[in-house]
Amino acid sequence: MTETIFPGPVPVLSELLLISVCILADHYDIFSGHSGWAAAIRDNGVHGTIACFCWAVFCDWRETARDLIQCVVCGLLAMVLDVDHFIAAKTFTLKGAVSHPTRPPLHATSVIPLCASFIYVTSRLLSWKSGTTLAVMLTIAWLSHHIRDGVRRGLWLPPFGSTPPIPFNVYVASTAILPVLFKVMKFYSESFSNISKTVTSEAQHVEISDV
Ligand SMILES: [Zn+2]
Repeated sequence: MTETIFPGPVPVLSELLLISVCILADHYDIFSGHSGWAAAIRDNGVHGTIACFCWAVFCDWRETARDLIQCVVCGLLAMVLDVDHFIAAKTFTLKGAVSHPTRPPLHATSVIPLCASFIYVTSRLLSWKSGTTLAVMLTIAWLSHHIRDGVRRGLWLPPFGSTPPIPFNVYVASTAILPVLFKVMKFYSESFSNISKTVTSEAQHVEISDV
């Protein structure tokens, strides 16, 4: 099937739902009224939902079952990041994790390209085809989580320091653009790879004809 950059109905609907979740959950705070663990689970669920819709915008929906599973995995990757708070604080109490003075290591945005590159390079060495997808998925899931957390605390970019808190409108716009940006990069990298394959096979054809 010919690759196209124009999204189908599912990515467009997912983009609208993605923006709606950001606004309803974080501006109108429609799930408020909780405290303690309920508030933490609600907050973590919003991270997961946003990452899930980000993947729904990014993927091409050629295989619905596969794409749905990938949406769920992307959401889980965004949610699991908050376990980092408990590991850094060395406690399983919510109070201890929340009041820990320093930000946990996986909340450093500089860590994302390192982890994604590690997965990509390892998968290439092991000839594991899904490694590139996992590297992109991890980047989208964790970046969406960091951007949302950044509304309160800014992005943490060691060793360069931190940005100021992200304005709410910038958070919504960046979250909406994130999967579209990766979709465009995927389209051009696939187009480039198809062109180089065609050029290589034509060159081989010419060499064989010359013999
Ligand atoms: Zn977080």
